[in-house]
Amino acid sequence: MAAAAVPVRKRLLKEEDMTKIEFETSEEVDVTPTFDTMGLREDLLRGIYAYGFEKPSAIQQRAIKQIIKGRDVIAQSQSGTGKTATFCISVLQCLDIQVRLAFSSVSWLPSSVILVELQSLTSLCFVSAGFKEQIYDVYRYLPPATQVCLISATLPHEILEMTNKFMTDPIRILVKRDELTLEGIKQFFVAVEREEWKFDTLCDLYDTLTITQAVIFCNTKRKVDWLTEKMREANFTVSSMHGDMPQKERESIMKEFRSGASRVLISTDVWARGLDVPQVSLIINYDLPNNRELYIHRIGRSGRYGRKGVAINFVKNDDIRILRDIEQYYSTQVDEMPMNVADLI
Ligand code: ADP
Ligand code: MG
Repeated sequence: MAAAAVPVRKRLLKEEDMTKIEFETSEEVDVTPTFDTMGLREDLLRGIYAYGFEKPSAIQQRAIKQIIKGRDVIAQSQSGTGKTATFCISVLQCLDIQVRLAFSSVSWLPSSVILVELQSLTSLCFVSAGFKEQIYDVYRYLPPATQVCLISATLPHEILEMTNKFMTDPIRILVKRDELTLEGIKQFFVAVEREEWKFDTLCDLYDTLTITQAVIFCNTKRKVDWLTEKMREANFTVSSMHGDMPQKERESIMKEFRSGASRVLISTDVWARGLDVPQVSLIINYDLPNNRELYIHRIGRSGRYGRKGVAINFVKNDDIRILRDIEQYYSTQVDEMPMNVADLI
């Protein structure tokens, strides 16, 4: 194939995306470190290299071989780690036609629900969806004995549960869950509707905060500074910390907080990782975090210690969707904050 005929994609995976992911598998899975050793057809292999891929990503190293072997596969990998390419390469391998140029066009297939019904591919179905109803629809129309592969960044519990209805002895290749867990943490939301109403809500909660020690998370340093200022103006005692502060200053603020001298800390995510002040049992997300990982780092606890806690999320109208997504992803429940929240701390 003439290399010039293949569009060169701008974004290729970075080395660390390919290797940093750790998986949990339902049985031992071969890791195939190169495309050459996957048993792919010669023309497909040339297409892959011409496309600019040099090395398979972590999920590709594990899933492609299983799929082309004919196994039912449940694969999970974060977004941008080569799932769609896993699907494309496997389909193209299974197609009984020349695919020299097909590779670039197939990769534009939508990634929501992909149901492949090609003549030459009578028995392979790929699903990459997050919704129970969609998956159910797909499975209703499947002829029995269809090879089914489910590839997704998120695999909520309810979906994993229904896979036994339409998959046969699937091999599971799942991203290793963070050791942080939301177990034992009561999560609530307060519908604040608008940004301006968050501040009053926080002031109303201040007495509750000081029952124990609390950390209030904001998404930006500016917001931390602003909120600290505003709380102090209103005569509330708070400490604050963010990544722009010199290390020395951060350390002394942490020391003060650990000793219990200050009871309310306003912080950016600089503090979320390695959260380890045992007496903190209340977390407020003044701003909802921008991604799911930050959510669990802010409020999750290390499973080994199994401490209890309460988390309160301030949600504006347009944040509700994000909160529902977090709920689904972690198979957890976030209820509206009850009046007696103080009793739960
Ligand atoms: P996902 O479906 O998991 O979000 P994609 O399959 O869309 O990931 O891949 C993300 C980007 O990385 C795409 O631009 C894709 O072309 C590129 N990519 C995928 N696999 C590889 C690879 N093995 N080497 C280099 N780049 C890759
Ligand atoms: Mg994709």
